[in-house]
Amino acid sequence: MGIWSIGHDHGHHAFSEYQWLDDALGFVLHSSFLTPYFSFKYSHRSHHAHTNSMEYDEIWIPKRKADTLYSEVLNNPLGKGNLFMTVVRLLLSFPMYFTFNIHGREYKGFASHFYPQSPIFYDSERKQIWLSDAGMLVAFYALYKVAAATSATWLFCIYGAPLLVMNVHFIFFTFLHHSHPSLAHYDSREWDWLRGALSTVDRDYVIFNGVFHDVTCAHVIHHLISIIPHYHTVEATKAVKPILGDYYKYDNTPILEGFWRETKDCIYVEPDEGAENSGVYWFRK
Ligand SMILES: [Zn+2]
Repeated sequence: MGIWSIGHDHGHHAFSEYQWLDDALGFVLHSSFLTPYFSFKYSHRSHHAHTNSMEYDEIWIPKRKADTLYSEVLNNPLGKGNLFMTVVRLLLSFPMYFTFNIHGREYKGFASHFYPQSPIFYDSERKQIWLSDAGMLVAFYALYKVAAATSATWLFCIYGAPLLVMNVHFIFFTFLHHSHPSLAHYDSREWDWLRGALSTVDRDYVIFNGVFHDVTCAHVIHHLISIIPHYHTVEATKAVKPILGDYYKYDNTPILEGFWRETKDCIYVEPDEGAENSGVYWFRK
C-alpha cells in the first residue's frame, strides 16, 4: 500500500518536475499492482476536481434513501454493519470499481477503467487507456510466467495475498476519508470546489501512519494541494490547521471503532428536514 501510494503521487505529478518521469514510474508501479495507471490518474483527477459533489464526484458518492435497491438490500440487518458484507466489500470493491465502476459516478453507457471508450474519459485520454490495459496485460503475463516457474500457491502467498491486503486497505482508507457524520455532500446548487475539498477527514492510524506514507492522517491537505508529495503532507497539514480552524476535520476515534461506526451510521444521505431544497446532504443511518 505504501508503494502504491507513491504511484498515486506520480499520478498527481507530485514526484518529479518531469511529467514523463512521473508517468513512466507511476505506470510501472501501478501496473505491477494491477492498477490501470492512466485510467486511475484521470478518474482520480476528476475525483479531486469534484469532491463530494452528488452529481460529479467519481467515487464514494453516497446513495439517497430513495434508492430502494440499495436501501432495501443493504440497509437492513443483513447489510448494515454486517461483518460478512463488510469483508466482501473490502475485498472486492477495488477490482469491482475499476472493472464495473461500483461505488463510482453514474454514467450513461458502460463505465470501466479498462474500456478506452468509457464515458469516464475524454477523447484526448483514450489512447493512454489502451496503454494502461497493455500494462495490465504485461503484468498478468509476467505473473503467469512466475506461476509457471514456481507454483500458483507460491505466487498467491508472495503476491496474491498481499495484493488482496492492499486492496482492502485502499477501500478502507478511502471510505474513511470520505465517510463521517460531520461531512456534508452537495448538489450543484451548493457545491463548490473548496467546500468539497474540505469535506474530507484526517484520521489517526497511530503507528501505521508512517507505513502508509501518511495518506491516512493528511488527506485534507492532499485535497487542498494535491501536488504536495506524501513526505511533506504532515508538515503542510500542521501549517494549514491554524488557518482552517473549524474547517479542518480530524477524528481520532480508534480506527477500527471508527470504521465500524461509519459502516453502520453513514448508510445514505438526505437533506435536513425542512431543508429539502437546500442542496446540502448529511449522512443518515
Ligand atoms: Zn489523490
